[in-house]
Amino acid sequence: MVDTAKYSRTISAKEMRFFVSIGNNAYSSIFSNELIVAICWEESRFSNIPQLNGPAVGFGQLQKEGLNKANQHRSGNPYAKGPGFFSRETVLGSEPISISAVSHCLAGYYDGFKTARKNNALKAYAGGFVSATNDLIPPRWLACEAALKQLPGPAHLNPEKYMEALNLALSPSNPPQRLGSSGPLYDFVRAKLFPELVPQLDYQSNWRWCKKCQGLFYGGNPTKGVCPAGGAHTDIGSGNYQLSAGKGPGQAGWRWCSKCQGFWFNGDGITGVCPAGSNHISTGSGQYLAQGFAGTGQNGWRWCRDCSGMFFIGNGSVGVCAGNKSRHHDGSGSGDYALTKI
Ligand SMILES: [Zn+2]
Ligand SMILES: [Zn+2]
Ligand SMILES: [Zn+2]
Repeated sequence: MVDTAKYSRTISAKEMRFFVSIGNNAYSSIFSNELIVAICWEESRFSNIPQLNGPAVGFGQLQKEGLNKANQHRSGNPYAKGPGFFSRETVLGSEPISISAVSHCLAGYYDGFKTARKNNALKAYAGGFVSATNDLIPPRWLACEAALKQLPGPAHLNPEKYMEALNLALSPSNPPQRLGSSGPLYDFVRAKLFPELVPQLDYQSNWRWCKKCQGLFYGGNPTKGVCPAGGAHTDIGSGNYQLSAGKGPGQAGWRWCSKCQGFWFNGDGITGVCPAGSNHISTGSGQYLAQGFAGTGQNGWRWCRDCSGMFFIGNGSVGVCAGNKSRHHDGSGSGDYALTKI
Protein backbone atom coordinates (compact mmCIF):
# COMPACT_ATOMS: atom_id res chain seq x y z
CA MET A 1 0.00 0.00 0.00
CA VAL A 2 1.39 3.36 -0.97
CA ASP A 3 0.96 6.07 1.62
CA THR A 4 -0.35 9.21 -0.06
CA ALA A 5 -1.47 10.89 3.18
CA LYS A 6 1.58 13.12 3.35
CA TYR A 7 0.63 14.63 0.01
CA SER A 8 -3.14 14.85 0.35
CA ARG A 9 -3.04 18.64 0.87
CA THR A 10 -0.16 19.37 -1.51
CA ILE A 11 -0.88 22.38 -3.70
CA SER A 12 0.35 22.73 -7.27
CA ALA A 13 3.78 24.00 -8.24
CA LYS A 14 2.11 26.93 -9.96
CA GLU A 15 0.11 27.96 -6.88
CA MET A 16 3.20 27.58 -4.72
CA ARG A 17 5.21 29.82 -7.01
CA PHE A 18 2.47 32.44 -6.87
CA PHE A 19 2.16 32.40 -3.08
CA VAL A 20 5.93 32.59 -2.67
CA SER A 21 6.16 35.46 -5.15
CA ILE A 22 3.88 37.57 -2.96
CA GLY A 23 4.68 36.09 0.46
CA ASN A 24 8.50 36.15 0.40
CA ASN A 25 8.49 39.80 1.41
CA ALA A 26 11.21 40.20 4.03
CA TYR A 27 14.76 39.47 2.79
CA SER A 28 14.05 37.97 -0.60
CA SER A 29 17.44 38.98 -2.00
CA ILE A 30 19.09 36.78 0.65
CA PHE A 31 16.52 34.01 0.91
CA SER A 32 15.44 33.44 -2.68
CA ASN A 33 12.01 32.32 -3.78
CA GLU A 34 13.55 28.99 -4.78
CA LEU A 35 14.95 28.56 -1.27
CA ILE A 36 11.54 29.28 0.27
CA VAL A 37 10.05 26.69 -2.09
CA ALA A 38 12.70 24.18 -1.00
CA ILE A 39 12.01 24.81 2.69
CA CYS A 40 8.24 24.55 2.25
CA TRP A 41 8.60 21.31 0.30
CA GLU A 42 10.80 19.77 2.96
CA GLU A 43 8.71 21.01 5.87
CA SER A 44 5.16 20.41 4.65
CA ARG A 45 5.16 19.13 1.05
CA PHE A 46 3.47 22.41 0.08
CA SER A 47 0.66 21.90 2.57
CA ASN A 48 -0.59 24.81 4.65
CA ILE A 49 -1.58 22.63 7.57
CA PRO A 50 -1.04 22.13 11.27
CA GLN A 51 1.48 19.45 12.19
CA LEU A 52 -0.06 16.13 13.11
CA ASN A 53 0.53 15.53 16.84
CA GLY A 54 2.73 18.60 17.12
CA PRO A 55 2.71 22.37 17.49
CA ALA A 56 4.08 23.44 14.08
CA VAL A 57 1.94 25.22 11.51
CA GLY A 58 1.90 26.28 7.91
CA PHE A 59 3.91 25.70 4.77
CA GLY A 60 7.10 26.26 6.77
CA GLN A 61 5.95 24.29 9.84
CA LEU A 62 6.86 27.08 12.22
CA GLN A 63 6.71 26.44 15.93
CA LYS A 64 6.05 28.98 18.65
CA GLU A 65 9.62 30.24 18.61
CA GLY A 66 9.59 30.63 14.83
CA LEU A 67 6.31 32.54 14.86
CA ASN A 68 7.69 34.76 17.61
CA LYS A 69 10.83 35.42 15.58
CA ALA A 70 8.69 36.31 12.55
CA ASN A 71 6.57 38.68 14.65
CA GLN A 72 9.67 40.32 16.10
CA HIS A 73 11.06 40.98 12.66
CA ARG A 74 7.81 42.20 11.19
CA SER A 75 7.15 44.57 14.08
CA GLY A 76 10.74 45.84 14.09
CA ASN A 77 11.09 44.99 17.78
CA PRO A 78 13.56 42.14 18.29
CA TYR A 79 12.49 41.81 21.93
CA ALA A 80 8.74 41.64 21.36
CA LYS A 81 6.99 38.72 23.01
CA GLY A 82 3.47 37.36 22.96
CA PRO A 83 0.81 37.46 20.26
CA GLY A 84 1.55 39.25 17.00
CA PHE A 85 0.48 39.39 13.40
CA PHE A 86 1.65 35.84 12.69
CA SER A 87 -0.38 33.31 14.66
CA ARG A 88 -1.63 29.81 14.18
CA GLU A 89 -4.89 31.28 12.88
CA THR A 90 -3.48 33.85 10.45
CA VAL A 91 -0.94 31.36 9.05
CA LEU A 92 -3.48 28.60 8.52
CA GLY A 93 -6.01 31.09 7.20
CA SER A 94 -3.94 32.54 4.40
CA GLU A 95 -1.36 31.00 2.09
CA PRO A 96 0.55 34.27 1.47
CA ILE A 97 0.67 34.98 5.22
CA SER A 98 1.94 31.46 5.79
CA ILE A 99 4.81 32.14 3.36
CA SER A 100 5.39 35.59 4.80
CA ALA A 101 5.84 34.03 8.24
CA VAL A 102 8.68 31.89 6.87
CA SER A 103 10.20 34.93 5.21
CA HIS A 104 10.10 37.10 8.34
CA CYS A 105 11.27 34.26 10.56
CA LEU A 106 14.38 33.76 8.44
CA ALA A 107 14.97 37.52 8.36
CA GLY A 108 14.62 37.68 12.15
CA TYR A 109 17.19 34.96 12.64
CA TYR A 110 19.46 36.61 10.06
CA ASP A 111 19.44 39.88 11.98
CA GLY A 112 20.39 38.08 15.15
CA PHE A 113 23.75 36.82 13.87
CA LYS A 114 26.95 38.73 13.30
CA THR A 115 28.73 36.15 11.13
CA ALA A 116 27.71 33.57 8.55
CA ARG A 117 24.33 35.15 8.91
CA LYS A 118 22.50 33.31 6.15
CA ASN A 119 23.82 29.86 7.05
CA ASN A 120 23.25 30.45 10.73
CA ALA A 121 19.70 31.66 10.08
CA LEU A 122 18.96 28.49 8.11
CA LYS A 123 20.54 26.40 10.84
CA ALA A 124 18.45 28.10 13.50
CA TYR A 125 15.28 27.65 11.42
CA ALA A 126 16.01 23.93 10.97
CA GLY A 127 16.80 23.45 14.66
CA GLY A 128 20.37 22.59 13.75
CA PHE A 129 21.80 24.17 16.88
CA VAL A 130 19.94 21.69 19.04
CA SER A 131 20.01 18.58 16.88
CA ALA A 132 22.77 17.11 14.74
CA THR A 133 20.16 15.43 12.54
CA ASN A 134 18.43 18.74 11.92
CA ASP A 135 21.76 20.27 11.02
CA LEU A 136 21.75 18.04 7.93
CA ILE A 137 18.64 19.77 6.62
CA PRO A 138 19.87 23.21 5.42
CA PRO A 139 22.42 21.80 2.93
CA ARG A 140 19.53 19.88 1.35
CA TRP A 141 17.45 23.05 1.09
CA LEU A 142 20.37 24.79 -0.58
CA ALA A 143 20.91 21.90 -3.00
CA CYS A 144 17.24 22.02 -3.91
CA GLU A 145 17.39 25.80 -4.34
CA ALA A 146 20.38 25.50 -6.69
CA ALA A 147 18.66 22.82 -8.78
CA LEU A 148 15.44 24.83 -8.99
CA LYS A 149 17.40 27.85 -10.17
CA GLN A 150 18.93 25.78 -12.94
CA LEU A 151 15.62 24.69 -14.40
CA PRO A 152 15.62 25.82 -18.01
CA GLY A 153 12.04 27.08 -17.92
CA PRO A 154 8.82 27.17 -15.94
CA ALA A 155 8.17 24.16 -13.72
CA HIS A 156 5.27 22.91 -15.80
CA LEU A 157 7.55 22.51 -18.79
CA ASN A 158 9.95 20.40 -16.76
CA PRO A 159 7.90 18.37 -14.26
CA GLU A 160 10.48 15.60 -14.04
CA LYS A 161 13.38 18.00 -13.48
CA TYR A 162 11.31 20.00 -11.01
CA MET A 163 10.52 16.90 -8.97
CA GLU A 164 14.15 15.82 -9.19
CA ALA A 165 15.09 19.17 -7.67
CA LEU A 166 12.44 18.87 -4.92
CA ASN A 167 13.79 15.45 -4.04
CA LEU A 168 17.10 17.07 -3.09
CA ALA A 169 15.39 18.87 -0.21
CA LEU A 170 14.43 15.56 1.38
CA SER A 171 16.40 13.03 3.33
CA PRO A 172 17.82 10.21 1.20
CA SER A 173 18.03 7.92 4.23
CA ASN A 174 16.76 6.99 7.68
CA PRO A 175 13.99 6.85 6.59
CA PRO A 176 14.27 7.83 2.94
CA GLN A 177 11.81 10.55 2.04
CA ARG A 178 12.66 11.00 -1.61
CA LEU A 179 10.14 10.02 -4.23
CA GLY A 180 12.50 8.52 -6.76
CA SER A 181 11.57 9.00 -10.40
CA SER A 182 8.66 6.62 -10.96
CA GLY A 183 6.01 4.52 -9.27
CA PRO A 184 2.48 5.01 -7.97
CA LEU A 185 3.39 7.55 -5.28
CA TYR A 186 5.52 9.52 -7.73
CA ASP A 187 2.61 9.62 -10.18
CA PHE A 188 0.21 10.69 -7.43
CA VAL A 189 2.46 13.55 -6.37
CA ARG A 190 3.13 14.54 -9.97
CA ALA A 191 -0.61 14.90 -10.54
CA LYS A 192 -0.86 17.05 -7.39
CA LEU A 193 2.01 19.31 -8.45
CA PHE A 194 0.98 19.56 -12.08
CA PRO A 195 -2.79 19.15 -12.30
CA GLU A 196 -2.72 21.13 -15.55
CA LEU A 197 -0.85 18.24 -17.16
CA VAL A 198 -3.75 15.87 -16.60
CA PRO A 199 -6.54 18.06 -17.98
CA GLN A 200 -8.44 15.12 -19.38
CA LEU A 201 -9.44 14.07 -15.88
CA ASP A 202 -12.14 15.70 -13.81
CA TYR A 203 -12.45 14.77 -10.18
CA GLN A 204 -15.62 14.61 -8.16
CA SER A 205 -15.61 14.11 -4.43
CA ASN A 206 -18.47 13.46 -1.99
CA TRP A 207 -18.84 9.82 -2.88
CA ARG A 208 -19.57 7.87 0.30
CA TRP A 209 -19.53 4.38 1.68
CA CYS A 210 -22.80 3.21 3.21
CA LYS A 211 -22.28 1.10 6.33
CA LYS A 212 -25.75 -0.40 5.97
CA CYS A 213 -25.33 -1.94 2.51
CA GLN A 214 -21.50 -1.53 2.05
CA GLY A 215 -22.24 0.19 -1.26
CA LEU A 216 -20.75 3.37 -2.72
CA PHE A 217 -23.17 6.22 -3.33
CA TYR A 218 -23.08 9.93 -4.11
CA GLY A 219 -23.56 11.93 -0.93
CA GLY A 220 -23.51 15.44 -2.41
CA ASN A 221 -27.23 15.66 -3.10
CA PRO A 222 -29.98 16.49 -0.58
CA THR A 223 -31.27 12.93 -0.98
CA LYS A 224 -29.19 10.01 0.21
CA GLY A 225 -31.03 7.79 -2.26
CA VAL A 226 -32.40 4.35 -1.59
CA CYS A 227 -30.47 1.71 0.35
CA PRO A 228 -31.08 -1.98 -0.26
CA ALA A 229 -30.90 -2.41 3.52
CA GLY A 230 -33.96 -0.15 3.86
CA GLY A 231 -34.48 3.60 3.98
CA ALA A 232 -31.80 5.88 2.58
CA HIS A 233 -28.05 5.25 2.43
CA THR A 234 -26.04 6.71 5.28
CA ASP A 235 -22.63 8.39 5.13
CA ILE A 236 -21.98 8.06 8.85
CA GLY A 237 -18.45 6.77 9.38
CA SER A 238 -17.49 7.15 5.74
CA GLY A 239 -14.46 8.90 4.28
CA ASN A 240 -14.83 11.31 1.38
CA TYR A 241 -14.10 9.43 -1.85
CA GLN A 242 -13.04 11.08 -5.04
CA LEU A 243 -13.80 9.57 -8.42
CA SER A 244 -12.35 10.53 -11.74
CA ALA A 245 -14.46 11.23 -14.75
CA GLY A 246 -13.62 11.80 -18.38
CA LYS A 247 -10.70 10.19 -20.16
CA GLY A 248 -7.77 8.67 -18.38
CA PRO A 249 -6.51 5.54 -16.71
CA GLY A 250 -9.12 3.26 -15.20
CA GLN A 251 -12.09 1.22 -16.32
CA ALA A 252 -14.77 3.16 -18.19
CA GLY A 253 -18.48 2.33 -18.07
CA TRP A 254 -19.25 3.32 -14.49
CA ARG A 255 -22.28 5.52 -13.79
CA TRP A 256 -24.24 7.25 -11.08
CA CYS A 257 -27.86 6.16 -10.67
CA SER A 258 -30.22 9.07 -9.96
CA LYS A 259 -32.81 6.73 -8.46
CA CYS A 260 -30.71 5.11 -5.71
CA GLN A 261 -27.63 7.48 -5.82
CA GLY A 262 -25.48 4.36 -6.20
CA PHE A 263 -22.31 3.87 -8.25
CA TRP A 264 -22.75 1.07 -10.74
CA PHE A 265 -21.23 -0.53 -13.82
CA ASN A 266 -23.06 -0.05 -17.07
CA GLY A 267 -20.67 -2.02 -19.29
CA ASP A 268 -21.78 -4.66 -21.76
CA GLY A 269 -25.43 -3.54 -21.62
CA ILE A 270 -25.69 -4.45 -17.94
CA THR A 271 -28.17 -2.32 -16.00
CA GLY A 272 -28.11 -4.29 -12.75
CA VAL A 273 -30.81 -4.16 -10.13
CA CYS A 274 -31.68 -0.89 -8.43
CA PRO A 275 -32.79 -0.87 -4.79
CA ALA A 276 -35.28 1.85 -5.81
CA GLY A 277 -36.96 -0.67 -8.13
CA SER A 278 -36.28 -2.14 -11.56
CA ASN A 279 -32.86 -1.35 -13.05
CA HIS A 280 -30.29 1.38 -12.42
CA ILE A 281 -30.41 4.29 -14.84
CA SER A 282 -27.57 6.42 -16.20
CA THR A 283 -29.68 9.47 -17.06
CA GLY A 284 -27.84 12.61 -16.02
CA SER A 285 -24.69 10.75 -15.03
CA GLY A 286 -21.14 11.59 -16.00
CA GLN A 287 -18.79 8.95 -17.36
CA TYR A 288 -16.78 7.66 -14.44
CA LEU A 289 -13.62 5.63 -14.31
CA ALA A 290 -12.90 2.98 -11.70
CA GLN A 291 -9.28 2.37 -10.84
CA GLY A 292 -8.08 -1.17 -10.82
CA PHE A 293 -5.73 -1.56 -7.88
CA ALA A 294 -2.70 0.51 -8.82
CA GLY A 295 -1.06 0.96 -5.46
CA THR A 296 -2.77 4.19 -4.50
CA GLY A 297 -6.05 4.67 -2.71
CA GLN A 298 -8.06 2.24 -0.66
CA ASN A 299 -8.46 -1.14 -2.25
CA GLY A 300 -11.01 -3.81 -1.30
CA TRP A 301 -13.80 -2.46 -3.49
CA ARG A 302 -15.71 -4.90 -5.71
CA TRP A 303 -18.27 -4.94 -8.49
CA CYS A 304 -21.35 -6.96 -7.56
CA ARG A 305 -22.41 -9.23 -10.39
CA ASP A 306 -26.02 -9.28 -9.18
CA CYS A 307 -26.88 -5.60 -8.64
CA SER A 308 -23.93 -4.18 -10.66
CA GLY A 309 -23.10 -1.77 -7.85
CA MET A 310 -19.72 -1.19 -6.26
CA PHE A 311 -19.33 -2.32 -2.66
CA PHE A 312 -16.61 -2.65 -0.03
CA ILE A 313 -15.46 -6.01 1.27
CA GLY A 314 -12.74 -4.68 3.56
CA ASN A 315 -14.94 -4.99 6.63
CA GLY A 316 -15.50 -8.68 6.11
CA SER A 317 -19.17 -8.04 5.28
CA VAL A 318 -20.78 -8.53 1.88
CA GLY A 319 -23.43 -5.99 2.77
CA VAL A 320 -26.96 -5.97 1.47
CA CYS A 321 -27.83 -6.41 -2.18
CA ALA A 322 -31.07 -5.77 -4.06
CA GLY A 323 -30.08 -8.09 -6.87
CA ASN A 324 -30.48 -11.61 -5.51
CA LYS A 325 -32.39 -13.81 -3.11
CA SER A 326 -29.52 -14.15 -0.61
CA ARG A 327 -29.59 -10.34 -0.22
CA HIS A 328 -25.78 -10.26 -0.17
CA HIS A 329 -23.52 -8.70 -2.78
CA ASP A 330 -21.53 -11.15 -4.89
CA GLY A 331 -18.03 -9.97 -5.76
CA SER A 332 -16.98 -13.12 -7.57
CA GLY A 333 -15.51 -12.34 -10.96
CA SER A 334 -14.73 -8.75 -9.93
CA GLY A 335 -11.36 -7.08 -10.00
CA ASP A 336 -9.97 -5.34 -6.95
CA TYR A 337 -10.80 -1.64 -7.24
CA ALA A 338 -9.04 1.14 -5.39
CA LEU A 339 -10.74 4.43 -4.53
CA THR A 340 -9.08 7.68 -3.62
CA LYS A 341 -9.99 9.14 -0.25
CA ILE A 342 -9.41 12.84 0.23
ZN1 LIG B 1 -26.83 1.76 1.64
ZN1 LIG C 1 -30.03 2.57 -8.81
ZN1 LIG D 1 -25.16 -6.42 -5.14
